[in-house]
Amino acid sequence: MHYSSGNYEAFARPRKPAGIEEKTAWFIGSGLASLAGAAFLIRDGHMPGSRITILERLSLPGGALDGIKEPEKGFVIRGGREMEEHFECLWDLFRSIPSLEIEGASVLDEFYWLNKDDPSYSLQRATANRGEDAHTDDLFTLDTRAQADVVKLFLSTCEEMENKRIDEVFSQDFFDSNFWLYWRTMFAFESWHSALEMKLYLHRFIHHIGGLPNFSTLKFTRYNQYESLVLPLVRWLQDQGVHFQFGTEVIDVDFDLAPGCKAATYIHWKRDGVPGGVALGRNDLAFITIGSLTENSDCGDHRTPAKLLDGPAPAWDLWRRIARKDPAFGRPDVFGAHIPETKWESATITTLDERIPRYIQKIAKRDPHSGGVVTGGIVTVKDSAWLLSWTVSRQPHFKNQPKDRVVAWFYGLFVERPGDFVKKPLQACTGEEITQEWLYHLGVPPEDIPELAATGAKTVPVMMPYVTAFFMPRQRGDRPDVVPQGAMNFAFIGQFAESHQRDCIFTTEYSVRTPMEAVYTLLGIERGVPEVFASTFDIRTLLEAVSRLRDGKTFRIPGPEFLSKLLLEKLDSTEIGTLLRDHGIVPASSTRRERTDPESTGGQ
Ligand SMILES: Cc1cc2nc3c(=O)[nH]c(=O)nc-3n(C[C@H](O)[C@H](O)[C@H](O)COP(=O)(O)OP(=O)(O)OC[C@H]3O[C@@H](n4cnc5c(N)ncnc54)[C@H](O)[C@@H]3O)c2cc1C
Repeated sequence: MHYSSGNYEAFARPRKPAGIEEKTAWFIGSGLASLAGAAFLIRDGHMPGSRITILERLSLPGGALDGIKEPEKGFVIRGGREMEEHFECLWDLFRSIPSLEIEGASVLDEFYWLNKDDPSYSLQRATANRGEDAHTDDLFTLDTRAQADVVKLFLSTCEEMENKRIDEVFSQDFFDSNFWLYWRTMFAFESWHSALEMKLYLHRFIHHIGGLPNFSTLKFTRYNQYESLVLPLVRWLQDQGVHFQFGTEVIDVDFDLAPGCKAATYIHWKRDGVPGGVALGRNDLAFITIGSLTENSDCGDHRTPAKLLDGPAPAWDLWRRIARKDPAFGRPDVFGAHIPETKWESATITTLDERIPRYIQKIAKRDPHSGGVVTGGIVTVKDSAWLLSWTVSRQPHFKNQPKDRVVAWFYGLFVERPGDFVKKPLQACTGEEITQEWLYHLGVPPEDIPELAATGAKTVPVMMPYVTAFFMPRQRGDRPDVVPQGAMNFAFIGQFAESHQRDCIFTTEYSVRTPMEAVYTLLGIERGVPEVFASTFDIRTLLEAVSRLRDGKTFRIPGPEFLSKLLLEKLDSTEIGTLLRDHGIVPASSTRRERTDPESTGGQ
């Protein structure tokens, strides 16, 4: 397996690997990672779909990538996916999957056209004082010390950041900035999470720094991701003859672990409670999704809080059993044994009449019923005890959603703190109480809140004990390699397998990258896996990011005025000068004056 970039390999069609007809493939889990892996086996590995089986403990595919209507409770989205154009592996997959919405189009075409016609961005990123503009005003407000912290993290090595927490590498100045407010609410980082992961995010999304404050960098699907991504992919796989075996909990995998040559030999499962399994030879490939961010998530309802399920967790227990067999199979407890640090709660709020959408419109500054972008990303309530954020995507968010309803997504980063209106922790609240707290921060008069929360919405809270498990501080070896050294017929896929690219987790992209690498390695596919978008090596992107992190303030060249003028004039006639000027690092030219930062004495 090798990585590639550019059009040459992107458009090349790999030839059929030798012996593919004799092989079979078994996927554990039916999340995006397995669905993508099966698609790559068929499209790029030329494996007949009928030789692929997907084993899933639940009764429907998609894993974390959800969107469902629960019969009694209402609509449920545990999350909403922020996406971008440089999800290289994901778009490589979906360019080949037919859209269910537009005849003759791929899922990528559908997504591309939608986001071209109706670009997403926010008109009000944060509120305070119960529905008023928090006036973050597109600024990062990083002072010189905080800017230095960011640069230091960026320039550190990954090894230096192993096992470090975010609050061990940043000063209070950084935590007081708008940058941290945007960052942690957009990506769900807590101060105790991994500094290494934050570093990887900074590099991975450096080309988006300028769009962080108003989300103009983000793109979204037409409907929830189950309907817009999972269903077309599942339909295509079924059309190719792939078998889905639901109600099948995989209990263990046996391995033959000779030095330098490791093979999976048996998959043990319980299918509808009945023990069973399959023996694997060298031509039978096992793709094992390890861990799951939505494992044991529990839905409450409008009258019932969600429960924190901290007992047996099949995805984590399976990885624990496997990991005991070989040190190369990772350390699941680094991620899956810290529920207090990895849990948070989201809620899906479905409005029932026009009373609440009026408040939404006031903050979003767009009509929730227009069919187009509404909030354009999350709105964070800056002064809320739960640090709550909410968003309304394009409506309807579900195909079978009645026209007059609006589906909103809500989450809080601090689930144990009492609310501001509801004096209870988020995790103890019913859907109705969560609605009350939300309405309070939308600016609904307090006397109207109880009635409106009781009759104006139906809300389903969801507790997810492991939702940020992959953000726990870690070191090399905690995650097993996608294809561990010597592995002949198996691979680990999903969010907890280690890709050797500089990619980061909590993304749909990572759940497509890892199976792509697995399939390309085990089948020896001749085409390259797309490398992570190389913006972190692009000097233009870096200069732009530096300028944005300084809220557009140019650097003042140290020394007497005449000398800096002279230097600028000299720079003006060089390529370097053009780059520095074009990206707002130095004033436009000696004749055009710009705002300068008096604190700064030059480069960092
Ligand atoms: C709240 C939330 C917000 C998100 N936001 C974003 C975002 O903004 N942008 C973005 O790109 N991504 C986002 N994601 C991430 C993205 O949705 C996930 O990373 C991705 O869907 C995970 O897919 P997966 O296949 O790797 O794992 P999973 O979806 O976890 O799949 C694992 C599957 O395996 C099954 N399984 C587990 N154990 C067993 C067993 N023993 N036997 C049989 N089956 C088993 C599970 O039931 C599940 O179906 C978000 C996710 C959530 C939950």
